[in-house]
Amino acid sequence: MSFDADEVRADFPILQRTVADGEPLVYLDNAATTQTPERVSTAEKSFYDEYNANVHRGIHTLSHEASVAYEDAHDRLAEFVGAEGREELIFTKNATEAVNLVAYGYGVQHLDEGDAVVTTEMEHHASLVTWQQIAEQTGADVRYVEVDDDGRLDMDHAREVIDDDVELLSVVHVSNVLGTVNPVRELADLAHDHDAAVLVDGAQSVPTRPVDVDDLGADFLAFSGHKMAGPTGIGCLYGEQELLEEMEPFLFGGEMIRHVTFDESTWNELPWKFEAGTPPIAEGIALAEAADYLDELGMDAVREHENDLAQYLLAELEDRDDVETYGPPPGVERSGLVAFNVDGVHGHDLSELLDDRGIAVRAGDHCTQPLHDVLDIPGSVRASFYAYTTREDVDALLDAIEDAAGKRDAMLASERYHDRIL
Ligand code: PMP
Repeated sequence: MSFDADEVRADFPILQRTVADGEPLVYLDNAATTQTPERVSTAEKSFYDEYNANVHRGIHTLSHEASVAYEDAHDRLAEFVGAEGREELIFTKNATEAVNLVAYGYGVQHLDEGDAVVTTEMEHHASLVTWQQIAEQTGADVRYVEVDDDGRLDMDHAREVIDDDVELLSVVHVSNVLGTVNPVRELADLAHDHDAAVLVDGAQSVPTRPVDVDDLGADFLAFSGHKMAGPTGIGCLYGEQELLEEMEPFLFGGEMIRHVTFDESTWNELPWKFEAGTPPIAEGIALAEAADYLDELGMDAVREHENDLAQYLLAELEDRDDVETYGPPPGVERSGLVAFNVDGVHGHDLSELLDDRGIAVRAGDHCTQPLHDVLDIPGSVRASFYAYTTREDVDALLDAIEDAAGKRDAMLASERYHDRIL
C-alpha cells in the first residue's frame, strides 16, 4: 500500500533542478501548489500537438477527438471523488470559482433575511469572503464555528449554531494552516437534520486523502487542479444532480445554452449548463491524467505518507522551546503541513534564509487572516509536503531552522555585549 517517495520523485522533472547557488530544490510549499509529473504535462502537450480544437462545436475529426477526451475527463474526475457521473462534475477555473458558483447559483437563491450560513473560523478567504459578500447581498447572517486551543472545531459550538435558520453549511475539510482534518460527516449530518445543504471545501483534502462525496455527506465539493499534481487554471465543483438541476447558471454565454432567441434562452444539460464559454480543455484532460496518477499511487498511501512526515516535523519542532506550532497536537492525524513561528525570527526573514538553501516554504497569513486573529499572531511559516517529499527534505528544513536560531542568538549576544560596553 505504501510507496517510495524517492521513486515518486523521479516522475517530477522539476525536482531535479537547483535554485539559489546551485542548491538542490527542497519544495515544501505544496499546500500552495503541487508539482506536476511528466505524464500530466505530456497529456497537456499531446492535446496541443495532436488534437487541439474547440469542443462541442465542430463535426471535424479534431473537434470530435477533443470533445470525447474532454467529456471523458469529467467522468474520470467524477469517479475520483465518488460522484455518480459527469452530470455532477463541473470544471471551473479553481476551487475559489467553484465556491462562488455555489454562492451565486445556490446561496443567493436560498438565502434571505433571517437565514444563516454556517462556516468556520478556519476557512480560507475563498469561502469566508464569499459568504460575507453573499450575506451582505441577501441580508442573511454568517455564523462561524469556533476553533479550540488544539486547532480543532468546537463541536459543541457547532451544535449551537446549526439550527433551523441555517440554509447552508460551508466547511473546509482540511485546514490549509492547521492541517486539521475536520469531522465533516458529523457536521454534514447536523446540517442535514436542519435541512441545510452542505458545501465542502476540498482544496486541501482531495489532493491528500481518499475523498468520497457520499461518505462525507457533501452536497457540493470544491477543489483545485493545481494542488493535486494537475495544471493551474482548472478546478472542479461536484454537485448533487438534483440540486444542480434546480440551480440557475452563474456564468452566461456560449456552450451553456440550448436555445436562444432575442427574448429568452434555455440552458444546456449538466454539466455544460455551468461551463460558459470555451472551457479549460487541455487543463481538464491533463487533470484527469493527474487523477489517474494519484489513483495509481494510492490515496491511502499519500495520506499515510503526509501524516508521517507531519508528525515527524511536529515532534522535532515541539522539542525546541523557541518554536511555536499551530494545529492539532502530535499524535492527532493531520495533513502534510505544519505552520509555525520561531521566536525572534520574522517569518519573511526565515523564508529568505531558507530560500538561500534551496528550501521553498510560505510565510504570511495563507489567505486565512481571521484564523490568524484567533491564533493571535500576524502570520506563520508553513511547510507543506506531498507524495515526493522525503525525510531528508524535512531534515534540511530542521537544519536551516537551527541555523536561523543560531544567527538570532549570536545577534542577541552581540547586542547584549554592545549594551554592556556602552
Ligand atoms: N480553500 C483552501 C483550504 C485552500 O487551501 C485554497 C488554496 N490555498 C483554496 C480554498 C483556494 O484555492 P484556489 O486558489 O486554487 O482557488
